[in-house]
Formats: sequence, structure tokens, C-alpha cells
Amino acid sequence: VIMITTITFNPSIDRMYRVNSINIGEVQRVISTNATAGGKGLNVTKVCKILGENPLAMGFIGGFNGAFIKDELRKLGIKNKFTEIKQETRNCLNIIEDNKVSTEFLEKGPIIGNSDLEKFENDIKEVIKDTKILIASGSYCQNMPLDYYEKIGHICRENNIKFILDTSGEPLKIALKSKPYLIKPNTDEIKQILRTNVESRDEVISAGKKLLEMGAQNVCISLGKEGMIYLNEYGVYEAKVPKIEAVNTVGSGDSTIAGFSVGILRGYEVEDLLKFSNACGISNALNIETGFVTLEEVEKYQGLVKVTKLS
Ligand code: ATP
Repeated sequence: VIMITTITFNPSIDRMYRVNSINIGEVQRVISTNATAGGKGLNVTKVCKILGENPLAMGFIGGFNGAFIKDELRKLGIKNKFTEIKQETRNCLNIIEDNKVSTEFLEKGPIIGNSDLEKFENDIKEVIKDTKILIASGSYCQNMPLDYYEKIGHICRENNIKFILDTSGEPLKIALKSKPYLIKPNTDEIKQILRTNVESRDEVISAGKKLLEMGAQNVCISLGKEGMIYLNEYGVYEAKVPKIEAVNTVGSGDSTIAGFSVGILRGYEVEDLLKFSNACGISNALNIETGFVTLEEVEKYQGLVKVTKLS
């Protein structure tokens, strides 16, 4: 059984170069390199696997880079049903100077055509009967229709699948019409789609209510070290997290999404769900590796997250 399926339309090989300093226009000597299978949806997949589930990864993949990603997932024991495309999967390069300054180069990734979309839709039909929760994370590939997440949302509704969507901008706004089960915008993403201020707690709560009105069934607004605000038709909840020594918060949002998916699959009530998902975000922040948590930390921090029902 699969139960949790993830979609990463535009995965990447995340490559890291460590250098002493970058001198523009000169030859640079690289101290060390590292390459991992990246993309927000793949981070979610990896954390679901660590949490003990058996997720299936989907998305577009191609070329040598695609083969690399599939092999990385195989080593982690993660199943995939990627849709093969002719173009090459992208690289994203992060150059770290002196262990401090990070400069990122993000490729756009492949251009997707109608036949690729058709192939993807056939692939998704094949896994739908085994899926209880479908998570889609990140942005589209080039040339994908803006309403594609909405289309997936409708497929989920027709098949009684809970659709968790973690994306931004117009694709998120449009997809709200398909009434996704859960969305997890941060405050920057909310500013983009609602064009309102979201500084104070009251502003965060009214933005969340607006997103419920626009169609989301559950809204989680993650606030980094301030925890999160969670809203649905039954109320508004606040989760406060303890102070920690964060070493890498990239991927904490993805780990939170993994926590939500696994918690929802296991039938957790809202208080336990928020403790579990925040603990996943915290554990990711405590580890250098992106999209990585430990069960020991998740268990420990679950007990330290404070959940309050505000209204
Ligand atoms: P990303 O896009 O990098 O995955 P995000 O902006 O979507 O991140 P955040 O709000 O930064 O997500 O983090 C998600 C959750 O992780 C928070 O709600 C919190 O539980 C935990 N978290 C993140 N950063 C910290 C921190 N510095 N201290 C404690 N907890 C943190």
C-alpha cells in the first residue's frame, strides 16, 4: 500500500560547492562538493519515509540528472513513478563561501509539452486507487498551465483523496477553487496572493480566514521560530515552539508538511497533529541536511510544542 503520494514537478540535483571566497572573473578552486536529490516535494517524501511511511514520488524527470535522482531515492528505499520526459532534469547550485555566505543559482528546468502532461495524467490515474493523501509542492516546470494544481485538486476531490498543496502565487490562488484539504503558506507567500500586511498575529489570523473563505479546508501559516497559526471551520489554533539552536531551516516547511501528511494519515486530532508537524519542522532546523529529521528529536519536541485554541 502507498497511501501517501508526492508530486515534485520540477525536481533538481542540488549541488553544493564549498570555496574559500568567490573572486568574480577568476578561476575558483572548489574545496568540496556534494549532490543530493532536491525539490520541495522530494524533501517531503524523504521525511515521510523517515517517519515510517511508504511514500511514492511522482513528477517529471529526464536525462542523466533524472537517473541520478532516481538512484538517490532508490538508496533511500523510496519508490517512484516519475513521468519520463525528453529534456534534462535541472541542477541547482549553491556556492558556500567560507562556511558562511551562500549564493544560489537556480535553473528554470525543462519545458513541458502537452504530451508530457497527458503522460503524467495517465500515471496519476494508475496510483490514485492506492493514495489517501496527495501532496504537491513547489513550482511548475516551464510552460505548464497556471491552473494545473487546480486540475489535480479536482482529481483528488473526485477520488476522495486529501490534497495538500504547498505552492505560491497564482498557481496557489487558482487552486483554492478546488478546495484543497490543506495549504501551508508562509507570510511572504500570503502577501503575494492577498496583497495585505501580515505582521501582527491578528493580521495573520484574518489572512488565514480569508484563505478559508477562498476555498482551503485547513490553513497552516508557518511562522518559523514563532511556530504556526492553524485555522479550519472548527477554530483558530496557535502552536508555539521552544527556542532552539537552528543550524539549517531550509526544508523546515517541507518537513512540517510531511508531519501533517503522516499525522493526518494516522488520524491525529488537531492538537497532536500540530505538535507532530511542528516537531518535524524543528528537527529539520536542528540538522544540516535539508529534508531530514530524526525520530528521537521529533518525539522529544512533540512534548515541548504548546498548542492553544484561540477561538
Ligand atoms: P521552507 O520554505 O524553507 O521549507 P517555510 O518558510 O515554509 O520554510 P518555516 O515557517 O520557516 O517554513 O518553518 C516551518 C516550521 O519549522 C515552523 O512552523 C516551526 O515549527 C519550525 N521551525 C522553523 N524554523 C525554526 C526555528 N528557528 N526555531 C524553531 N522552530 C523552527
